[in-house]
Amino acid sequence: MIHVFNTMTRTKELFKPLQAGIVNMYVCGPTVYNYIHIGNARSAIAFDTIRRYFEYAGYQVNYVSNFTDVDDKIIKAARTAGISEHELTTKFEQAFIEDTLPLNIKPATVRPLATEHINEIIKFVADLITQGYAYVAKGDVYFRARKFPDYGHLAHQNIDDLEIGASERLDDGELARKEDPVDFAVWKGANPDEAITWDSPWGPGRPGWHIECSVMAIKYLGDTIDIHGGGQDLAFPHHTNEIAQSEAHTGKKFANYWLHNGFVTVGDDNEKMSKSLGNFVTVHDLLNEVEPQALRLMMATTHYRRPLAYTKTAIAEATQVVKRLQTAYTNLDFRLQQDDASPVEDSNLAAQVTAFKLKFMQAMDDDFNVANAMTVINDFTTALNVYAKATNVSSLTGHDALREFAAEVMVLGVNVQPSLDEENTKWIDEKVATRDAAKKAKDYAQADMIRAELKAQGIILEDTAQGTRWKKE
Ligand SMILES: [Zn+2]
Repeated sequence: MIHVFNTMTRTKELFKPLQAGIVNMYVCGPTVYNYIHIGNARSAIAFDTIRRYFEYAGYQVNYVSNFTDVDDKIIKAARTAGISEHELTTKFEQAFIEDTLPLNIKPATVRPLATEHINEIIKFVADLITQGYAYVAKGDVYFRARKFPDYGHLAHQNIDDLEIGASERLDDGELARKEDPVDFAVWKGANPDEAITWDSPWGPGRPGWHIECSVMAIKYLGDTIDIHGGGQDLAFPHHTNEIAQSEAHTGKKFANYWLHNGFVTVGDDNEKMSKSLGNFVTVHDLLNEVEPQALRLMMATTHYRRPLAYTKTAIAEATQVVKRLQTAYTNLDFRLQQDDASPVEDSNLAAQVTAFKLKFMQAMDDDFNVANAMTVINDFTTALNVYAKATNVSSLTGHDALREFAAEVMVLGVNVQPSLDEENTKWIDEKVATRDAAKKAKDYAQADMIRAELKAQGIILEDTAQGTRWKKE
Protein backbone atom coordinates (compact mmCIF):
# COMPACT_ATOMS: atom_id res chain seq x y z
CA MET A 1 0.00 0.00 0.00
CA ILE A 2 1.84 3.07 -1.26
CA HIS A 3 1.29 6.39 0.50
CA VAL A 4 2.30 9.66 -1.15
CA PHE A 5 2.52 13.20 0.19
CA ASN A 6 -0.04 15.25 -1.74
CA THR A 7 0.87 18.96 -1.91
CA MET A 8 -2.81 19.73 -2.47
CA THR A 9 -3.87 18.39 0.93
CA ARG A 10 -0.47 18.56 2.62
CA THR A 11 -0.93 15.06 3.97
CA LYS A 12 0.32 11.60 3.18
CA GLU A 13 -2.49 9.80 1.40
CA LEU A 14 -3.05 6.22 0.34
CA PHE A 15 -2.33 6.02 -3.38
CA LYS A 16 -5.33 4.75 -5.30
CA PRO A 17 -4.93 4.71 -9.09
CA LEU A 18 -7.94 5.38 -11.32
CA GLN A 19 -7.38 2.07 -13.09
CA ALA A 20 -6.13 -0.89 -11.08
CA GLY A 21 -2.46 -1.59 -11.72
CA ILE A 22 -1.82 1.50 -13.84
CA VAL A 23 -0.21 4.81 -12.90
CA ASN A 24 -0.75 7.73 -15.25
CA MET A 25 1.75 10.38 -14.39
CA TYR A 26 2.79 13.71 -15.87
CA VAL A 27 6.00 15.49 -14.90
CA CYS A 28 6.91 18.96 -16.15
CA GLY A 29 10.08 18.71 -18.22
CA PRO A 30 12.76 21.30 -18.95
CA THR A 31 12.71 24.35 -21.20
CA VAL A 32 15.25 23.34 -23.82
CA TYR A 33 17.40 26.46 -24.26
CA ASN A 34 20.57 25.20 -22.54
CA TYR A 35 22.14 22.08 -21.06
CA ILE A 36 20.16 20.91 -18.05
CA HIS A 37 21.46 22.01 -14.67
CA ILE A 38 21.52 19.81 -11.62
CA GLY A 39 18.18 21.21 -10.46
CA ASN A 40 16.59 19.73 -13.60
CA ALA A 41 18.46 16.47 -13.03
CA ARG A 42 17.22 16.33 -9.45
CA SER A 43 13.61 16.58 -10.59
CA ALA A 44 14.11 14.00 -13.35
CA ILE A 45 15.85 11.62 -10.91
CA ALA A 46 13.28 12.11 -8.13
CA PHE A 47 10.41 11.20 -10.44
CA ASP A 48 12.34 8.44 -12.20
CA THR A 49 12.93 6.84 -8.79
CA ILE A 50 9.21 7.15 -7.99
CA ARG A 51 8.33 5.69 -11.38
CA ARG A 52 10.80 2.83 -10.96
CA TYR A 53 9.35 2.02 -7.54
CA PHE A 54 5.81 1.85 -8.91
CA GLU A 55 7.11 -0.49 -11.62
CA TYR A 56 8.98 -2.58 -9.05
CA ALA A 57 5.73 -2.81 -7.07
CA GLY A 58 3.99 -4.22 -10.14
CA TYR A 59 2.33 -1.18 -11.69
CA GLN A 60 2.41 -0.22 -15.33
CA VAL A 61 3.49 3.41 -15.45
CA ASN A 62 2.53 5.72 -18.29
CA TYR A 63 5.07 8.50 -17.82
CA VAL A 64 4.56 11.66 -19.82
CA SER A 65 7.07 14.50 -19.57
CA ASN A 66 7.29 17.43 -21.95
CA PHE A 67 9.97 19.59 -23.48
CA THR A 68 9.00 23.27 -23.46
CA ASP A 69 10.33 24.29 -26.87
CA VAL A 70 8.78 27.73 -27.29
CA ASP A 71 9.36 30.41 -24.67
CA ASP A 72 10.95 33.86 -24.11
CA LYS A 73 14.23 32.30 -22.93
CA ILE A 74 14.43 30.18 -26.09
CA ILE A 75 13.77 33.15 -28.36
CA LYS A 76 16.47 35.14 -26.58
CA ALA A 77 19.04 32.30 -26.58
CA ALA A 78 18.44 31.53 -30.28
CA ARG A 79 18.93 35.20 -31.14
CA THR A 80 22.20 35.32 -29.16
CA ALA A 81 23.46 32.13 -30.84
CA GLY A 82 22.39 33.38 -34.28
CA ILE A 83 20.40 30.22 -35.03
CA SER A 84 16.69 29.43 -35.35
CA GLU A 85 14.62 28.50 -32.29
CA HIS A 86 14.09 25.06 -33.81
CA GLU A 87 17.84 24.46 -34.25
CA LEU A 88 18.45 25.52 -30.66
CA THR A 89 15.72 23.37 -29.12
CA THR A 90 16.61 20.31 -31.23
CA LYS A 91 20.20 20.57 -30.01
CA PHE A 92 19.23 20.74 -26.35
CA GLU A 93 16.54 18.06 -26.60
CA GLN A 94 19.27 15.74 -27.89
CA ALA A 95 21.61 16.93 -25.12
CA PHE A 96 18.94 16.15 -22.51
CA ILE A 97 18.67 12.58 -23.77
CA GLU A 98 22.47 12.16 -23.82
CA ASP A 99 22.92 13.64 -20.35
CA THR A 100 20.12 11.70 -18.65
CA LEU A 101 20.93 8.24 -20.07
CA PRO A 102 24.13 7.76 -18.01
CA LEU A 103 22.07 8.73 -14.95
CA ASN A 104 19.80 5.75 -15.68
CA ILE A 105 16.78 7.99 -16.11
CA LYS A 106 14.29 5.98 -18.15
CA PRO A 107 13.02 7.68 -21.29
CA ALA A 108 9.46 8.99 -20.86
CA THR A 109 6.68 6.89 -22.35
CA VAL A 110 5.75 10.03 -24.30
CA ARG A 111 7.95 13.15 -24.55
CA PRO A 112 5.63 15.70 -26.21
CA LEU A 113 6.76 19.05 -27.61
CA ALA A 114 4.70 22.22 -27.21
CA THR A 115 5.31 23.22 -30.84
CA GLU A 116 3.84 19.95 -32.09
CA HIS A 117 0.54 20.61 -30.31
CA ILE A 118 -0.27 24.13 -31.48
CA ASN A 119 -3.60 23.22 -33.13
CA GLU A 120 -4.77 21.44 -29.97
CA ILE A 121 -3.65 24.37 -27.85
CA ILE A 122 -5.54 26.85 -30.05
CA LYS A 123 -8.67 24.69 -29.80
CA PHE A 124 -8.31 24.50 -26.00
CA VAL A 125 -7.91 28.29 -25.73
CA ALA A 126 -10.88 28.85 -28.03
CA ASP A 127 -12.99 26.58 -25.79
CA LEU A 128 -11.94 28.55 -22.69
CA ILE A 129 -13.08 31.77 -24.43
CA THR A 130 -16.42 30.19 -25.34
CA GLN A 131 -16.83 29.03 -21.73
CA GLY A 132 -16.20 32.58 -20.51
CA TYR A 133 -13.02 31.62 -18.69
CA ALA A 134 -10.71 33.45 -21.08
CA TYR A 135 -10.80 36.73 -23.00
CA VAL A 136 -8.96 38.33 -25.90
CA ALA A 137 -6.99 41.51 -25.26
CA LYS A 138 -5.07 43.06 -28.17
CA GLY A 139 -3.84 39.75 -29.60
CA ASP A 140 -3.22 38.14 -26.19
CA VAL A 141 -5.64 35.76 -24.50
CA TYR A 142 -5.91 35.78 -20.70
CA PHE A 143 -7.50 33.40 -18.22
CA ARG A 144 -9.87 34.93 -15.64
CA ALA A 145 -8.22 33.48 -12.52
CA ARG A 146 -10.84 34.90 -10.18
CA LYS A 147 -13.60 33.07 -12.06
CA PHE A 148 -12.04 29.74 -11.12
CA PRO A 149 -13.11 28.73 -7.60
CA ASP A 150 -10.28 27.96 -5.22
CA TYR A 151 -7.57 29.45 -7.44
CA GLY A 152 -4.26 29.21 -5.56
CA HIS A 153 -5.27 26.26 -3.37
CA LEU A 154 -2.30 24.14 -4.45
CA ALA A 155 0.14 26.82 -3.30
CA HIS A 156 -1.99 27.28 -0.15
CA GLN A 157 -2.38 30.92 -0.89
CA ASN A 158 -5.29 33.27 -1.02
CA ILE A 159 -5.95 34.82 -4.41
CA ASP A 160 -5.58 38.34 -3.01
CA ASP A 161 -2.11 37.52 -1.69
CA LEU A 162 -1.17 36.11 -5.08
CA GLU A 163 -2.40 39.25 -6.80
CA ILE A 164 0.45 41.36 -5.46
CA GLY A 165 2.98 38.81 -6.64
CA ALA A 166 1.34 38.57 -10.03
CA SER A 167 1.37 42.31 -10.63
CA GLU A 168 5.06 42.48 -9.75
CA ARG A 169 5.97 40.07 -12.51
CA LEU A 170 4.30 42.01 -15.30
CA ASP A 171 5.44 44.62 -17.72
CA ASP A 172 3.17 47.66 -17.87
CA GLY A 173 1.79 46.79 -21.28
CA GLU A 174 0.60 43.37 -20.15
CA LEU A 175 -0.87 44.76 -16.96
CA ALA A 176 -2.84 47.34 -18.95
CA ARG A 177 -4.29 44.63 -21.20
CA LYS A 178 -5.53 42.50 -18.31
CA GLU A 179 -8.93 42.81 -16.67
CA ASP A 180 -7.34 41.82 -13.36
CA PRO A 181 -3.62 41.61 -12.41
CA VAL A 182 -4.06 38.01 -11.25
CA ASP A 183 -5.13 36.83 -14.75
CA PHE A 184 -2.54 34.92 -16.73
CA ALA A 185 -1.76 34.52 -20.44
CA VAL A 186 -2.87 31.38 -22.25
CA TRP A 187 -1.92 32.85 -25.64
CA LYS A 188 0.63 35.57 -26.32
CA GLY A 189 0.28 37.84 -29.33
CA ALA A 190 3.52 38.06 -31.32
CA ASN A 191 5.82 41.04 -31.05
CA PRO A 192 6.56 42.44 -34.54
CA ASP A 193 10.20 41.21 -34.43
CA GLU A 194 9.42 37.62 -33.39
CA ALA A 195 9.93 34.90 -35.98
CA ILE A 196 8.37 31.98 -34.09
CA THR A 197 4.62 32.55 -34.41
CA TRP A 198 1.52 30.66 -35.42
CA ASP A 199 -1.72 31.98 -36.89
CA SER A 200 -4.66 31.90 -34.53
CA PRO A 201 -8.19 33.34 -34.42
CA TRP A 202 -6.66 36.15 -32.31
CA GLY A 203 -3.83 36.95 -34.69
CA PRO A 204 -0.27 35.62 -34.88
CA GLY A 205 1.24 34.48 -31.60
CA ARG A 206 2.37 31.56 -29.48
CA PRO A 207 1.08 29.62 -26.49
CA GLY A 208 1.54 30.86 -22.93
CA TRP A 209 3.78 28.54 -20.95
CA HIS A 210 1.20 26.87 -18.68
CA ILE A 211 -1.29 25.87 -21.36
CA GLU A 212 0.97 23.27 -23.05
CA CYS A 213 1.08 21.04 -19.95
CA SER A 214 -2.72 21.06 -19.57
CA VAL A 215 -3.28 20.21 -23.23
CA MET A 216 -0.60 17.50 -23.43
CA ALA A 217 -1.35 15.87 -20.07
CA ILE A 218 -5.04 15.57 -20.98
CA LYS A 219 -4.26 14.40 -24.53
CA TYR A 220 -1.94 11.58 -23.47
CA LEU A 221 -3.30 10.60 -20.06
CA GLY A 222 -6.97 11.66 -19.95
CA ASP A 223 -9.00 14.38 -18.21
CA THR A 224 -7.97 13.17 -14.75
CA ILE A 225 -4.47 11.88 -14.17
CA ASP A 226 -3.17 10.00 -11.15
CA ILE A 227 0.01 11.91 -10.38
CA HIS A 228 1.27 15.31 -11.49
CA GLY A 229 4.86 16.09 -10.56
CA GLY A 230 7.44 18.84 -10.82
CA GLY A 231 9.79 21.04 -8.84
CA GLN A 232 8.34 22.80 -5.81
CA ASP A 233 8.93 26.17 -7.49
CA LEU A 234 6.32 25.15 -10.08
CA ALA A 235 3.42 24.90 -7.59
CA PHE A 236 2.77 28.59 -8.21
CA PRO A 237 2.12 29.90 -10.75
CA HIS A 238 2.66 27.03 -13.21
CA HIS A 239 0.73 24.17 -11.61
CA THR A 240 -1.85 26.52 -10.09
CA ASN A 241 -2.60 27.75 -13.61
CA GLU A 242 -2.56 24.25 -15.09
CA ILE A 243 -5.27 23.26 -12.60
CA ALA A 244 -7.42 26.32 -13.33
CA GLN A 245 -7.29 25.88 -17.12
CA SER A 246 -7.71 22.13 -17.11
CA GLU A 247 -10.56 21.94 -14.63
CA ALA A 248 -12.34 24.90 -16.23
CA HIS A 249 -12.08 23.10 -19.57
CA THR A 250 -13.09 19.57 -18.57
CA GLY A 251 -15.19 20.23 -15.46
CA LYS A 252 -13.24 17.39 -13.83
CA LYS A 253 -10.48 17.11 -11.29
CA PHE A 254 -7.15 17.45 -13.13
CA ALA A 255 -4.79 15.40 -10.94
CA ASN A 256 -5.48 13.23 -7.89
CA TYR A 257 -2.00 13.60 -6.36
CA TRP A 258 0.45 16.51 -6.65
CA LEU A 259 4.06 15.63 -5.90
CA HIS A 260 6.80 18.26 -5.70
CA ASN A 261 10.54 17.81 -5.37
CA GLY A 262 12.79 20.11 -3.32
CA PHE A 263 15.55 22.47 -4.41
CA VAL A 264 19.23 21.79 -4.97
CA THR A 265 21.90 23.73 -3.14
CA VAL A 266 25.47 23.70 -4.38
CA GLY A 267 28.60 23.81 -2.29
CA ASP A 268 28.81 23.55 1.44
CA ASP A 269 27.31 26.91 2.24
CA ASN A 270 23.74 25.82 1.49
CA GLU A 271 23.19 28.70 -0.85
CA LYS A 272 20.30 28.10 -3.19
CA MET A 273 21.59 27.41 -6.65
CA SER A 274 21.47 30.44 -8.83
CA LYS A 275 23.14 31.50 -12.01
CA SER A 276 24.05 34.88 -10.64
CA LEU A 277 26.01 33.30 -7.80
CA GLY A 278 28.21 31.63 -10.36
CA ASN A 279 27.46 28.12 -9.16
CA PHE A 280 25.39 27.16 -12.17
CA VAL A 281 26.36 23.55 -12.67
CA THR A 282 25.28 21.73 -15.81
CA VAL A 283 24.99 17.95 -15.88
CA HIS A 284 26.86 18.03 -19.19
CA ASP A 285 29.99 19.40 -17.44
CA LEU A 286 29.50 17.35 -14.31
CA LEU A 287 29.47 14.04 -16.18
CA ASN A 288 33.12 14.62 -17.14
CA GLU A 289 34.08 14.83 -13.48
CA VAL A 290 31.92 12.40 -11.56
CA GLU A 291 30.81 8.81 -11.92
CA PRO A 292 27.26 9.13 -13.32
CA GLN A 293 25.86 6.36 -11.11
CA ALA A 294 27.32 8.07 -8.03
CA LEU A 295 25.55 11.31 -8.98
CA ARG A 296 22.38 9.31 -9.54
CA LEU A 297 22.60 7.53 -6.20
CA MET A 298 23.45 10.71 -4.32
CA MET A 299 20.36 12.42 -5.73
CA ALA A 300 18.08 9.39 -5.46
CA THR A 301 18.91 8.77 -1.80
CA THR A 302 17.99 12.26 -0.64
CA HIS A 303 14.25 12.27 0.02
CA TYR A 304 12.57 13.90 -2.97
CA ARG A 305 10.81 16.58 -0.92
CA ARG A 306 13.91 17.65 1.01
CA PRO A 307 16.47 20.18 -0.21
CA LEU A 308 19.47 18.43 -1.71
CA ALA A 309 22.96 19.72 -1.03
CA TYR A 310 25.32 18.96 -3.89
CA THR A 311 28.80 18.71 -2.38
CA LYS A 312 32.03 16.96 -3.38
CA THR A 313 31.91 15.02 -0.10
CA ALA A 314 28.43 13.66 -0.88
CA ILE A 315 29.59 12.58 -4.36
CA ALA A 316 32.71 10.90 -2.97
CA GLU A 317 30.59 8.97 -0.47
CA ALA A 318 28.11 7.91 -3.15
CA THR A 319 30.99 6.74 -5.36
CA GLN A 320 32.11 4.40 -2.57
CA VAL A 321 28.58 3.10 -2.04
CA VAL A 322 28.12 2.32 -5.75
CA LYS A 323 31.41 0.38 -5.69
CA ARG A 324 30.36 -1.55 -2.59
CA LEU A 325 27.01 -2.51 -4.14
CA GLN A 326 28.61 -3.63 -7.40
CA THR A 327 31.39 -5.56 -5.65
CA ALA A 328 28.91 -7.43 -3.45
CA TYR A 329 26.94 -8.43 -6.53
CA THR A 330 29.99 -9.46 -8.57
CA ASN A 331 31.62 -11.45 -5.73
CA LEU A 332 28.56 -13.52 -4.96
CA ASP A 333 27.83 -13.99 -8.65
CA PHE A 334 31.38 -15.35 -9.07
CA ARG A 335 31.04 -17.63 -6.03
CA LEU A 336 27.80 -19.11 -7.40
CA GLN A 337 29.59 -20.07 -10.62
CA GLN A 338 32.02 -22.36 -8.79
CA ASP A 339 31.54 -26.11 -9.26
CA ASP A 340 30.64 -26.75 -5.61
CA ALA A 341 27.56 -24.44 -5.66
CA SER A 342 24.50 -26.55 -4.89
CA PRO A 343 21.38 -26.55 -7.09
CA VAL A 344 19.21 -27.14 -4.00
CA GLU A 345 17.30 -24.33 -2.33
CA ASP A 346 18.74 -22.66 0.79
CA SER A 347 15.68 -21.91 2.92
CA ASN A 348 17.65 -19.77 5.33
CA LEU A 349 18.85 -17.39 2.61
CA ALA A 350 15.39 -17.47 0.98
CA ALA A 351 13.83 -16.26 4.25
CA GLN A 352 16.40 -13.47 4.50
CA VAL A 353 15.66 -12.30 0.94
CA THR A 354 11.90 -12.29 1.62
CA ALA A 355 12.50 -10.18 4.75
CA PHE A 356 14.69 -7.69 2.86
CA LYS A 357 12.07 -7.33 0.14
CA LEU A 358 9.35 -6.71 2.71
CA LYS A 359 11.38 -4.08 4.56
CA PHE A 360 12.43 -2.39 1.33
CA MET A 361 8.78 -2.11 0.30
CA GLN A 362 7.71 -0.87 3.73
CA ALA A 363 10.26 1.93 3.42
CA MET A 364 9.37 2.91 -0.13
CA ASP A 365 5.62 2.57 0.45
CA ASP A 366 5.98 5.39 2.98
CA ASP A 367 6.17 8.29 0.50
CA PHE A 368 9.36 6.81 -0.98
CA ASN A 369 11.47 6.85 2.17
CA VAL A 370 14.77 6.28 0.40
CA ALA A 371 16.88 6.70 3.55
CA ASN A 372 15.18 3.70 5.17
CA ALA A 373 15.30 1.81 1.87
CA MET A 374 19.05 2.43 1.73
CA THR A 375 19.45 1.00 5.24
CA VAL A 376 17.77 -2.19 4.01
CA ILE A 377 20.02 -2.27 0.93
CA ASN A 378 23.10 -1.85 3.13
CA ASP A 379 22.03 -4.81 5.28
CA PHE A 380 21.27 -6.79 2.13
CA THR A 381 24.78 -5.97 0.83
CA THR A 382 26.32 -7.28 4.05
CA ALA A 383 24.25 -10.47 3.80
CA LEU A 384 25.45 -11.05 0.22
CA ASN A 385 29.07 -10.53 1.29
CA VAL A 386 28.65 -13.04 4.11
CA TYR A 387 27.02 -15.58 1.79
CA ALA A 388 29.79 -15.23 -0.81
CA LYS A 389 32.22 -16.47 1.85
CA ALA A 390 30.05 -19.35 3.06
CA THR A 391 31.36 -22.90 2.74
CA ASN A 392 28.14 -24.18 1.19
CA VAL A 393 26.14 -22.02 -1.20
CA SER A 394 22.99 -22.63 -3.19
CA SER A 395 23.27 -21.35 -6.75
CA LEU A 396 19.47 -21.44 -6.97
CA THR A 397 18.68 -19.25 -3.94
CA GLY A 398 21.88 -17.28 -4.43
CA HIS A 399 20.72 -16.17 -7.86
CA ASP A 400 17.28 -15.32 -6.47
CA ALA A 401 19.01 -13.12 -3.89
CA LEU A 402 21.09 -11.41 -6.58
CA ARG A 403 18.02 -10.80 -8.75
CA GLU A 404 16.11 -9.22 -5.84
CA PHE A 405 19.14 -7.18 -4.78
CA ALA A 406 19.70 -5.86 -8.32
CA ALA A 407 16.00 -4.98 -8.64
CA GLU A 408 15.95 -2.98 -5.39
CA VAL A 409 19.15 -1.14 -6.21
CA MET A 410 17.83 -0.39 -9.71
CA VAL A 411 14.83 1.40 -8.15
CA LEU A 412 17.41 3.93 -6.97
CA GLY A 413 18.86 3.96 -10.49
CA VAL A 414 22.08 2.04 -9.87
CA ASN A 415 22.89 -0.90 -12.11
CA VAL A 416 24.94 -3.51 -10.27
CA GLN A 417 24.91 -6.03 -13.08
CA PRO A 418 27.99 -5.65 -15.24
CA SER A 419 26.62 -4.88 -18.66
CA LEU A 420 28.02 -4.61 -22.12
CA ASP A 421 27.82 -1.04 -23.26
CA GLU A 422 27.49 -0.09 -26.88
CA GLU A 423 31.17 0.63 -27.32
CA ASN A 424 32.17 -2.82 -26.04
CA THR A 425 29.62 -4.50 -28.26
CA LYS A 426 31.01 -2.69 -31.28
CA TRP A 427 34.54 -3.74 -30.34
CA ILE A 428 33.49 -7.39 -30.04
CA ASP A 429 31.63 -7.32 -33.34
CA GLU A 430 34.71 -5.94 -35.06
CA LYS A 431 36.93 -8.64 -33.52
CA VAL A 432 34.52 -11.35 -34.65
CA ALA A 433 34.48 -9.95 -38.20
CA THR A 434 38.30 -9.86 -38.28
CA ARG A 435 38.42 -13.45 -37.05
CA ASP A 436 35.90 -14.57 -39.68
CA ALA A 437 38.06 -12.95 -42.37
CA ALA A 438 41.18 -14.65 -40.96
CA LYS A 439 39.44 -18.04 -41.02
CA LYS A 440 38.33 -17.48 -44.58
CA ALA A 441 41.94 -16.72 -45.50
CA LYS A 442 42.92 -19.91 -43.63
CA ASP A 443 44.99 -17.85 -41.17
CA TYR A 444 44.04 -20.07 -38.23
CA ALA A 445 46.79 -18.73 -35.98
CA GLN A 446 45.28 -15.24 -36.08
CA ALA A 447 41.77 -16.63 -35.68
CA ASP A 448 42.82 -18.49 -32.54
CA MET A 449 44.59 -15.46 -31.19
CA ILE A 450 41.42 -13.38 -31.50
CA ARG A 451 39.40 -16.13 -29.85
CA ALA A 452 41.84 -16.09 -26.93
CA GLU A 453 41.77 -12.31 -26.75
CA LEU A 454 37.97 -12.33 -26.49
CA LYS A 455 38.03 -15.18 -23.98
CA ALA A 456 40.24 -13.05 -21.77
CA GLN A 457 37.44 -10.44 -21.80
CA GLY A 458 34.85 -13.05 -20.83
CA ILE A 459 33.45 -13.48 -24.35
CA ILE A 460 32.85 -16.94 -25.75
CA LEU A 461 32.55 -17.65 -29.47
CA GLU A 462 30.34 -20.28 -31.04
CA ASP A 463 30.88 -21.26 -34.64
CA THR A 464 27.50 -22.13 -36.12
CA ALA A 465 26.28 -22.88 -39.63
CA GLN A 466 24.82 -19.35 -39.69
CA GLY A 467 28.16 -17.78 -38.75
CA THR A 468 29.98 -16.87 -35.57
CA ARG A 469 27.91 -16.03 -32.49
CA TRP A 470 29.29 -14.60 -29.27
CA LYS A 471 28.01 -14.58 -25.73
CA LYS A 472 29.15 -13.56 -22.29
CA GLU A 473 30.82 -16.25 -20.22
ZN1 LIG B 1 4.31 21.92 -16.78
